[in-house]
Amino acid sequence: MRSTDTEWTDPAPSPLDMPDLPSPESPATAPGIRPRTFDEYVGQEAVIEGLRISIEAALKRGECLDHILLHGPPGLGKTTLSCLIAGAMDVPFLTTSGPVLEKGGDLVGILSRIAPRTVLFIDEIHRLPRAVEEILYGAMEDFAIDVIFDRGPSARTFRHKLPPFTLVGATTRAGLLSAPLRDRFGIFQDLDFYRPDELVRILLRSAGVLGFALPDEAALEIGCRSRGTPRIANRLLRRVRDYAEVRAGGLVTRELVIEALRIEGIDDLGLNRVDRKVLTTIGTVYGGGPVGVEALAATLQIEVDTIIDVVEPFLLKEGLLARTPAGRRLTEYGQKRLAFPGISGDEL
Ligand code: ADP
Repeated sequence: MRSTDTEWTDPAPSPLDMPDLPSPESPATAPGIRPRTFDEYVGQEAVIEGLRISIEAALKRGECLDHILLHGPPGLGKTTLSCLIAGAMDVPFLTTSGPVLEKGGDLVGILSRIAPRTVLFIDEIHRLPRAVEEILYGAMEDFAIDVIFDRGPSARTFRHKLPPFTLVGATTRAGLLSAPLRDRFGIFQDLDFYRPDELVRILLRSAGVLGFALPDEAALEIGCRSRGTPRIANRLLRRVRDYAEVRAGGLVTRELVIEALRIEGIDDLGLNRVDRKVLTTIGTVYGGGPVGVEALAATLQIEVDTIIDVVEPFLLKEGLLARTPAGRRLTEYGQKRLAFPGISGDEL
């Protein structure tokens, strides 16, 4: 891999090239925690197999990899995966995101400096402004951008050829992508929530990297409370480590995990305070639903996007919530959960 490592080591990345990257010191992405090879990437076997085949085929033909769309809730490993793709192809890796590319010029600036075969990662690609998206069409399909000079009758177009590159788009909401953009991707991969045993493997590796002992049963307890999400698992691991260092001389046990996560407001299903607030509000304010997501967001004073992208995917997957044409409603299991929450008293 050539320049993928700049993601972690370049002290002064250009804001356009790497605008939304957490700093190398950021706990969630400290060097070592994020998998560096496909072999270290846990789970998502079908996705990995599909990508490995495409990568091998492209390498054999000496071609650029097709554009890839990765879909799935936040924290499941889309950024990590795109970094690994660049590594496996041994090509440069650049990253940016939909909301950061406000104007066409922002994207043109990146594309006009792109090295051949670069993997360009655009996170939250569904949030690209329309004008920027339109520039991407030609860039993806013909490896060219049309630059317009002047306005009105004297306007002239200049076609700027680009080197071939691979666009990896990540989205939490594939449905919001316009058809012309979606159609320009050759490879589609859906990432799913992780099973507890997969999260245990991730946690044991992370604990090893961080340099502390994590017994299997403690890892399983964290894994079961991580909403099927590696980013959450790694975050909770750090909170458990803090708690163990302060209260137990660094000794982590299953009981300690339960206590540390109770303080974090995490229950036995991995639901946090916001999850419980959503369930409680539907149950008490809206009589169990159905309720429209806008009304729910207004009552809770949270962004609609937060409910759709972050909160409800896991509640739907767990069968606590159902989405109907009339809105969100509690399932029977959701009702039961409200009556018997998996966390005590003041942590509700
Ligand atoms: P996304 O881009 O989908 O929001 P990221 O790729 O940023 O998610 O992943 C969040 C964190 O979770 C990463 O820093 C990485 O440490 C960890 N992670 C994600 N997927 C995996 C995996 N399959 N195996 C091991 N760790 C993972």
